[in-house]
Amino acid sequence: MDLNIKINDKGHLDIGGADAVDIADEFGTALFVIDENRIRDNYNRFYNAFSKYYPDFRVYYACKANTNLAVLKILEEEGCCIDAVSPGEVYTSKKLGFDGDRILFTGNNVTTEELKFVYEQGAVINLDSVSALKRLAEVIDPNGVKISFRVNPMVGAGHHDHCITGGVMSKFGIMESEAVEVYKLARELGFNPVGMHSHIGSGILDPEPFKLAIESTMDIAGKVHQEAGIDFEFVDFGGGVGIPYTPEESIVDIDKFAEENIKLFKEKLEEYDMGNPTMYLEPGRYLVGDASVLLVRVNSVKQSYRKFIGVDAGFNTLLRPAMYDSYHHIVVANRMNDEAVEKVDIAGNVCESGDLFARDRMMPEVEEGDLLAILNAGAYGFTMSSNYNSRPKEAEVLVKDGECFVVRERETFDDLFNKQIIPDHLE
Ligand SMILES: *Cc1c(COP(=O)(O)O)cnc(C)c1O
Repeated sequence: MDLNIKINDKGHLDIGGADAVDIADEFGTALFVIDENRIRDNYNRFYNAFSKYYPDFRVYYACKANTNLAVLKILEEEGCCIDAVSPGEVYTSKKLGFDGDRILFTGNNVTTEELKFVYEQGAVINLDSVSALKRLAEVIDPNGVKISFRVNPMVGAGHHDHCITGGVMSKFGIMESEAVEVYKLARELGFNPVGMHSHIGSGILDPEPFKLAIESTMDIAGKVHQEAGIDFEFVDFGGGVGIPYTPEESIVDIDKFAEENIKLFKEKLEEYDMGNPTMYLEPGRYLVGDASVLLVRVNSVKQSYRKFIGVDAGFNTLLRPAMYDSYHHIVVANRMNDEAVEKVDIAGNVCESGDLFARDRMMPEVEEGDLLAILNAGAYGFTMSSNYNSRPKEAEVLVKDGECFVVRERETFDDLFNKQIIPDHLE
């Protein structure tokens, strides 16, 4: 089993050297707990694997996975760059000390004002359409401004249909057939188009779709280089490297993954005589997914037509099971060594039938008061959470070598009133 699980000598879940039971007692539940060293390890394992084979390599963290400021700071310290998909992510990264040239903005259906704002923040803009190119040219002086384009490499892959971002059904990127013209147009407008980008999907454990994406993206880049005379400074193959969520899935052998993909990349560079552009990758999930758990308390055990284990969080806290039908492994953090003996449903506290963290899950006998840990909650966990059902958002705690730091305070009921205004006639 490749899941990131450590058990201490009390038989409790260990998170970064701290006891999950103590953490829950001190900070309450539900609670996101982030292991700092795991993020650092994930980053370095990823960076080293690729840079070993191709030193002109940069990691752009796809920060939509987890925008907690402490998480961003950790990655900034490690030398990571940022893949931002909204002006808010650009703004946040800048505030935290990422230089503009370490931020790549890949927007989708962004307004002209947003493009202008992102440009003024100094981020490099990766355009998704001819429309965005023309609109950007109207609001800034395009002379010499470095930009790139997202292309659709006609390869898609991912753990769920919602997460496949290449191919004929995808709203992302420009078509291969228009690529040469778009780069020419960019240059005519005065821009300096120096990059090409693709991102085929998310949660990919199999290296094959990746290789296809590299091949296909490089064929487009090669054509643009030869027919439009563009010298690429970077080629970006997006993110999507998966992590195991189930006990049956295996971790990606990142060294082999890097070796095979870089080999292909170099072959294509040579085939099209493209020199040595920097290679970018944009992992989100891979860097932060297995670094966090969501701790929840069992508050009711109910034998109905099925057996329901009720906990103090719902899909407002962790949306992935409801949204993508995702599997998250769940352990009893205070009795880690107990055998699984029965099948139960683990249900949240939101008033919807779909609010389940697990259906028919083999678990030890769970009692009220037990502490459950929902694993791999670090990516698309807090960032997709909401106040649905008027639930204040949960706190987040960072663990570093056994020491705990609150990195986000728990919201209060009063926070539910934020920014709302009752008009005078209703007072
Ligand atoms: C979401 C996203 C990523 C990261 O995806 P992961 O599966 O978390 O690695 C990378 N690039 C872009 C453009 C994205 O939208």
